[in-house]
Amino acid sequence: MRALVTGITGQDGGYLAERLTSDGYDVHGLVHDGDPNVEDLRSRCPAVTLHTGDLQDGPSLAVAVGAADPDEIYNLAGISSVAFSWQQPVLTADITALGAARLLDEARLLQERRGREVRFVQASSAEIFGNVGGVQDESTPLAPTSPYGAAKAYAHQLCGLYRSVGVFASSMVLFNHESPRRPPTFVTRKITQTVALIAQGQASELVLGNLDARRDWGWAPDYVDAMVLAARAPQPADFVVATGEAHSVREFALAAFARVGIADGEARIRVDPSLVRPGDPPVLVGDAARARSVLGWAPTVSFEELVGRMVEADLPIEHLH
Ligand code: GDP
Repeated sequence: MRALVTGITGQDGGYLAERLTSDGYDVHGLVHDGDPNVEDLRSRCPAVTLHTGDLQDGPSLAVAVGAADPDEIYNLAGISSVAFSWQQPVLTADITALGAARLLDEARLLQERRGREVRFVQASSAEIFGNVGGVQDESTPLAPTSPYGAAKAYAHQLCGLYRSVGVFASSMVLFNHESPRRPPTFVTRKITQTVALIAQGQASELVLGNLDARRDWGWAPDYVDAMVLAARAPQPADFVVATGEAHSVREFALAAFARVGIADGEARIRVDPSLVRPGDPPVLVGDAARARSVLGWAPTVSFEELVGRMVEADLPIEHLH
């Protein structure tokens, strides 16, 4: 089997490349010129074949898809921050919305050309639901509140449309999923990195924004497994991928402090009001019942374990209790 992965140098792309390689796949990835994370990926996954291209550039996608001749395409590329999408809404639309359209259409053309199914898996996001309260599932109406969410919503809906004309396209609505490979622009890694520094006496406080935001945080490799299961499922569909449990930013921070033996973690936290986001949804939590029943998927890492693994990865060995 051959797979083409866009966004292969990101957190999920790396885990997916490792997973598919160990499953015996011939893994191809799309990387753009000057991607700073290529060397990291090559050292983790030397067997992957990389193609230079860009979701903004249709002809480069046609060349990469033609060269890789994939059985499965995973579209993980896109801009990765809501805040950035407000600074660059047109770029966001071009990469995250139109890029998915370009790639889906390459999948359709390849399938027609060779008369054999191409399976397409889209990495969508809980951001397509916006600020609705309650638990979200595949029937939750789309109501994005950012250019990022709107672009992901377009790509999500296009997967459904291509399904209706015979393309195997599944859209995975991924809730927050974390790992030691998360950059510290995300709150989880910011917390574990800073707590590790505090434990070593190299920092004194943890400065955060909204401590009460509650998020459904899962273990990134579990979410990659859901994508792989979807590609191998009998039918394509939309799937919410989430743990179903929400925890606050405060709980995450206190669990991280507890992991390094600091009991009065609260005293080390300072709130900087400039880090509080306007319109930050108070709680986002997903119901992955469909992924559980149709794909047989379940999260394997608890909240405490997730926090523990991330803290441990940020600490030198002698600081681990
Ligand atoms: P996102 O859900 O993809 O935007 O992931 P983030 O990790 O950036 O944010 C998750 C939640 O943590 C949001 O509700 C943020 O408002 C909240 N948060 C609180 N303090 C911080 C902080 O210092 N940095 C970030 N990135 N998020 C914070």
